[in-house]
Formats: sequence, C-alpha cells, structure tokens
Amino acid sequence: MSKNISIIILVDALGWELLRLMQPSTYVHFKFKTRTILGFSSSAIPTILTGKLPIEHGRWNLLYRSPQDSPFYWTKPLNILPDFLLEHGITRKLINEISKRLCGAEGYFSSYGVPARHLHLYDVCEKKNIYKPGGIPGSTTIIDYLDESDVPHQVFSYHDASDQVILDTIASNRVADGPAVYFAYLAELDAFLHKHVGEDCLVRQKVDWYLQKIDDIVEKAAGTGKDVRVFVFSDHGMTPVTKHYDLIADLHKAGIDLEKDCMAAFDSTMARFWIEPGAVRDRILTVLDHCSAGRILHDDELQRLGVYFPDHRYGDIIFLMNPGTLIFPNWFGTYAPKGMHGFHPDDPHSYGVYMSNVDDYHPDSILDLYDIMKKEIDLQREKRF
Ligand SMILES: [Zn+2]
Repeated sequence: MSKNISIIILVDALGWELLRLMQPSTYVHFKFKTRTILGFSSSAIPTILTGKLPIEHGRWNLLYRSPQDSPFYWTKPLNILPDFLLEHGITRKLINEISKRLCGAEGYFSSYGVPARHLHLYDVCEKKNIYKPGGIPGSTTIIDYLDESDVPHQVFSYHDASDQVILDTIASNRVADGPAVYFAYLAELDAFLHKHVGEDCLVRQKVDWYLQKIDDIVEKAAGTGKDVRVFVFSDHGMTPVTKHYDLIADLHKAGIDLEKDCMAAFDSTMARFWIEPGAVRDRILTVLDHCSAGRILHDDELQRLGVYFPDHRYGDIIFLMNPGTLIFPNWFGTYAPKGMHGFHPDDPHSYGVYMSNVDDYHPDSILDLYDIMKKEIDLQREKRF
C-alpha cells in the first residue's frame, strides 16, 4: 500500500531568477538556488539523471566529432549538391529524419549547428530515450535505479504526453496501491521562455499555472489520505537576449572558409572548432581573441567546469558568448529567440531552482539532485517492507 508518495518533477528552464515573478506556492515553499553546468539540456539533464559531470557521463553538446559512428555517414555523396539545395530547410529536415530512422534513434535527435557537408563527420550523443532504462549507456541513471527497485513507479516525459496531461494524470492518481514514485520531465516551459522571457506578465501566468497544478496534486493526494513529498527542480534558467553578434562574418572577413579550412559548429551561445595547429588555426584564434562579445574557454577552465574531453571530440577550440549575447546568425536556425540558455553557469540567469514541500534536502547544484531522488526511492522502498 502506497500511502506516502514521492513526486519528482523536472521543469526544463525554470530559472531561479523567475521566482521573483511567482506567487508563492501554498505547499512547495522550501526553495534553493541550484548551479547548473556549462552546456545545454543535452548535458544538464544527463547530469541530473546520473549525478555526474559531463566528462563522466560523456554528454555535452548534442553533436560531437565521430566519423566512425556517424548516423549521417550516408549523406557524404550528397555533397555534390549545390549549397542552396543541400542547406535547404526541406533537405536538412529529410537528412535528420532519415538518419534518425537509420540508427533507430528515439531520443532528442538534431543535426543543426553544423554544415550539411560535414554531417558525416559527426555523431549525436542522445540517440536513446534518456527517460527509459538504459537511456545513457555507460552510466546508471535514476531511471535505471527506479527500474531496478521494487517500488511501483511511473515515468513521464514529452515522449509520452503534454505537460498538462502529465500533471493531470499524476493528480488523478487516487488508487491506494498506485505508484509510490513519480518522475516527470516537463519540456514546454523551455519553449515558452525562449519566446516570451522578459514579458513578465505572461511569464508569471505560465509559471503560476505550473505551481497551481503542483499544489493541486498535493491537495488531491491529501484528500485521499496520502502524504505527498514533492520535489520540483530544473536543469538551468533562461537568460534574456540583449544583443546579437555576427561571429561568422568576423571569421569570413579574416578569410577563413568554415567548410574547407576546418570543422566548425555554431550554436547560439557557443562556437566550436576542430582544427590542427597551423596558420588557419592561428588566424581563427586571432579573430576570437579580438572578439569582445565572448571569450575562448581554455583547458584549465573547461576542466574546472567538468567539460574537458582530452580527445577534443566536442571541439579543439571552444568560444563562449557573454551572457545575453547571441551568435546570430548562427547555423542552428533562422529564429532569434528572446531568451537563451547555455551561457556561463556563473550568469545569475543560468541558475536553476529546487523546491519542495519537505525540508529534508538543501542542494546547491544540479549535481546534488541524483542523490535526493535516490534517497526518495530508498525511502519508498523501506516503507514497503
Ligand atoms: Zn531551451
């Protein structure tokens, strides 16, 4: 009989800075600011699910150099096509879909950020659904731990349903022997904040909607005699975009051909280059050294941030933009969002949140969340026997 339940809700991009806009929750009132890690959700969520740094679980940016395992290997003959055809939105979409099917990927699979001509040199780090057991090969995730426990549980993500359906499903659990642990990953706030961060009224409404739903879950469960332990946390925050900077134009002006001279990836907050030492590398470094819109992250800093990969699979040179400044245009898409994440973890807007209705844990980093979830699963297991 599961009279006590633990509900774990990961809300993508619910930043600490958003809390100042929110109505206080009736139940979830213990709040802590959590430091994220450098990168995007492709590294922050694996860090939450494993309690490990990117260098340990291997996930950082979505694309990394790996010609031998590329799911895009079949695209090399397409390189005879002219640029306008190869880089056309429909072609890129088809390449993405076909490659995803060919390798049987069921996770977040995207080929954007690098030129189509180079795709056969890259692999995607998230080919499996990370919310299923075995989702991060080589690491034990909290989903694996839950799967191996004898605790009745249910896991939800955007692969299964919308945020509303997920929250309503949890709230409607009234059976005494229903799940004792819920894990839900809610993805929709992230997309909303990319579009609307800075529009405080709209953002407040949206965040309040999530908190109201969570309060409903606690109330409904309490109404059926259950004691609910709720944990709401995020992977990172959302930084308002204040400036655009055309880094690609700077490199072109310096005579660098980003397809012939090197391999390069341009996301909105980070540029990465793969290039052997030599004259072109020196020219790229000169352009980056003179660019005040961002800075090169050197090996010692990458090591401190837990993202230094000795084989440089994620890039020989990593250039990170200043908080709020977007590389735009970039190779990720034509849409310029109002908010972005993936800046330095020290940026106040990068911090995530942890909230709970119990005062048992005091995390200060997303690295601490795995242990909290593990303790909750252990607690529910102990209650059953
Ligand atoms: Zn996002």
